[in-house]
Amino acid sequence: METALAAHGFWLGHEPQSFELSTVGGWVASRLAGQRSTGVGRMEDLLAGAEVALPDGLFQLAPVPAAAVGPELRQLLCGSEGRLGVFTRVTLRVHRRPRSDAGLLMVVPSWWDGMELCRRLLREGLAPQVVRLSDAPETAFGLRSPS
Ligand SMILES: Cc1cc2nc3c(=O)[nH]c(=O)nc-3n(C[C@H](O)[C@H](O)[C@H](O)COP(=O)(O)OP(=O)(O)OC[C@H]3O[C@@H](n4cnc5c(N)ncnc54)[C@H](O)[C@@H]3O)c2cc1C
Repeated sequence: METALAAHGFWLGHEPQSFELSTVGGWVASRLAGQRSTGVGRMEDLLAGAEVALPDGLFQLAPVPAAAVGPELRQLLCGSEGRLGVFTRVTLRVHRRPRSDAGLLMVVPSWWDGMELCRRLLREGLAPQVVRLSDAPETAFGLRSPS
């Protein structure tokens, strides 16, 4: 999917840690948040429309930009974990591919300083696509890990 989108200059940018193991239907059914969700949004933001197999037949959820009336059926179905129906087709919102992709690692004195840094990044509208705060043991593990 990402390869096909890249040929047109777009990407979904949805990268859960289970990317290689999971399915698009599972992402929608479990209301997934990918690692870049700070930038591209969570699955409930990316779901535009769907075809859902219900016990009495196929239901079409039109891919409209927004709903002016409620209840919002996309929000009801997204995260329903297969209890309401089975997603057989989905329409997702894609983004233009960023021209560059860079990472920045910052070491802060304490967890609380890290929390404050994340809060200020979001409050001041400077949020990168991935904002991840690791505690000392996870940071030490990450530095030891070969990847
Ligand atoms: C190693 C690992 C890493 C993970 N990383 C993340 C992460 O980064 N972010 C995050 O938010 N979550 C993460 N998760 C949890 C996440 O919910 C699942 O990875 C993923 O969304 C499940 O997709 P799947 O295709 O494997 O679905 P399954 O595990 O097979 O199913 C999940 C649920 O959805 C239902 N379902 C599946 N397909 C459909 C369908 N087509 N229609 C209707 N219902 C359906 C199933 O009945 C089940 O209830 C992770 C899980 C693992 C094991």
